[in-house]
Amino acid sequence: MFRDSDFKTNTDVPGPTKEEIRCLVICKSKVKKDETVLEIGCGTGGLTLEFAKRSKQVYSIDKNPAAVKLTRENLLEYELLDNVKLFEEDALSVLKSIPKFDILMIGGSGGDLYSIIEKASTKLNPGGRIIVTAILMETKTQSISKLKELGFEVEIIEVNISKGRIIDRGTMMFSQNPIAIIYTI
Ligand code: SAH
Repeated sequence: MFRDSDFKTNTDVPGPTKEEIRCLVICKSKVKKDETVLEIGCGTGGLTLEFAKRSKQVYSIDKNPAAVKLTRENLLEYELLDNVKLFEEDALSVLKSIPKFDILMIGGSGGDLYSIIEKASTKLNPGGRIIVTAILMETKTQSISKLKELGFEVEIIEVNISKGRIIDRGTMMFSQNPIAIIYTI
């Protein structure tokens, strides 16, 4: 697993998703070496790099040009660009041009969550999984209801990670924002 400090960052681009959350996402995705991943909202590339190391092919998209550029830089830094195709586009417009995939990872949806899940689910290979990371209450409830409506079995976990900073006098815990992971099984 990459450490948060391994990534180049940019104030105009969110991410990387924190290391402990990346651990959970990768674990819940059950990604395998012969599988294909579509990631919507690559941001800094935190999850893109983790999936690139563990799958056959990653299609990663972001509507923010700065995010695509930063993800490319991070992939190049760790020589992981070979099996990643990056798209600077909105999720809904790119879905038509992408072949079928095994894992759909939604890290950002910009208000189009229902249609993204609906359109993308038609391109999911049999046995495929959908994972959504959510900070907003609305993203949690919308993804659960849409996935249920489409017939998926859904689970949600929410974690509040606190990480210790070891200083001279002892160890101080710093909390990170709570984040939910909604995933199909
Ligand atoms: N998981 C990433 C951070 C994702 S931040 C990391 O580890 O670095 C969410 C990203 O989703 C943002 O960069 C935002 O531009 C993108 N996004 C939001 N809605 C989108 C949409 N409809 N299509 C494409 N990208 C979108």
